[in-house]
Amino acid sequence: MSTINIAIDGPAGAGKSTIAKMVSAKLGYIYVDTGALYRTIALYITENNIADEDIEKALPAADVSLRFVDGTQRVYLGDRDVSGLIRTPEISMAASRTSAIPAVREYLFDTQQKIARENNVIMDGRDIGTVVLPNADVKIFLTASAEERANRRYKELAEKPDCPSYEEILSDIIKRDEQDMNRAVSPLKQADDAVLVDTTKLDLETSAEEIIRIIREKTE
Ligand code: C5P
Repeated sequence: MSTINIAIDGPAGAGKSTIAKMVSAKLGYIYVDTGALYRTIALYITENNIADEDIEKALPAADVSLRFVDGTQRVYLGDRDVSGLIRTPEISMAASRTSAIPAVREYLFDTQQKIARENNVIMDGRDIGTVVLPNADVKIFLTASAEERANRRYKELAEKPDCPSYEEILSDIIKRDEQDMNRAVSPLKQADDAVLVDTTKLDLETSAEEIIRIIREKTE
């Protein structure tokens, strides 16, 4: 029996992971956050001080894996759960930089395809509809203005110590978008057959409902 695959791509902070989690809980699919894989590679490279020219040969020893604990995705480096450690602004930027390296993308390609082959998934990332799952049953390109995305991130981080300023967050988002859209391999772009959903003026519930409507329309 073939599985149902939903691809959600879009820029940083568009709400992909929050919305994809809500939708997958509702539909009973597994939610796969592929950004966490790129972040984990970035953590491995940073922790081990690996120079760019040595990354390709260091990758096989990285031992990155995804596990699902009570339906929630965790990422591991060897036996170490690094799901919390990868959520820093430094690792966000490092992931954006190292994800442009073709060997890094190749290394993570099979992991992503295998999960989608074996499960009904909602997979979010930058190149899911274009490269990883070109035959996905439904493709969504989720976006919002850079200012609104920065605003949401700022509100999320506001209670934490050392919260960056709104301007810093906005400039990181714009820089990351630029890097992700302009890299030579698997750049962030809307697949020809993806449905565009702009969440600038939508709250989370409305965005999730809209996506569920699109999925039902295409799969039922
Ligand atoms: O989605 P998230 O912000 O966690 O992703 C971190 C970085 O990983 C992105 O800025 C992007 O460079 C990279 N990424 C990617 N392809 C994906 C998912 C994430 O290049 N499918």
